[in-house]
Amino acid sequence: MDRMFDYHTHSIISDGELIPAELVRRAEVVGYRILGISDHSDLATLPTQIPVIVAAAKAENAAGRIGVVAGTEVTHVRPAQIGEAVRLARELGAQYVVVHGETLSEPVLPGTNRAAIEAGADILAHPGLVGDDEVGLAAERGVFLEISGRKGHSLANGHVARLAEKYGAKLLFGSDTHTVGDSPTRAFAERICRAAGLDEDAVERMFRGAEAFGSRLLAK
Ligand SMILES: [Zn+2]
Ligand SMILES: [Zn+2]
Repeated sequence: MDRMFDYHTHSIISDGELIPAELVRRAEVVGYRILGISDHSDLATLPTQIPVIVAAAKAENAAGRIGVVAGTEVTHVRPAQIGEAVRLARELGAQYVVVHGETLSEPVLPGTNRAAIEAGADILAHPGLVGDDEVGLAAERGVFLEISGRKGHSLANGHVARLAEKYGAKLLFGSDTHTVGDSPTRAFAERICRAAGLDEDAVERMFRGAEAFGSRLLAK
């Protein structure tokens, strides 16, 4: 089975259905090598969530076969407060920060994509109909734009892929796993990326980048 890398997953620490140990185990059996736990968070929930996610990652890394990294997905925080949330998450020990972008399937506030990039988030998830300016800025700042494996969020994958290629922005696949059966194999994740219009080489580059990203976090 091909080696899978995914930094966008949810557990019962937010609205996922699995405790971290089960999320990790189910990912392991479909070929994951590095998994990031990135539960939904806001300014109020970060202080209680991050220590739990950090502890979950520590326990798995001590005992498991796959690498687990502790993240968060700053979600529905108002654009003016996204910078503060990203800083707080890192202060509390998050190894990386995802921001829940302007998906077509939820009323995410306009300005969220730009605020996430300016705040130096690691990953802008499902950015929807993100504009040329934001994608150019993401390329400049080295922020990953997500190709989403989740229904609804994936509607704009083709648009995101096209602009990322135009401006040279980095892409990352994120499953947005919430429950049993959501975590894809590498082969299926690659098909989703191909369906977004990316060629084989671009997809190969994406997953090499994903491996390098997780390896850097695990080495810290
Ligand atoms: Zn999200
Ligand atoms: Zn998510």
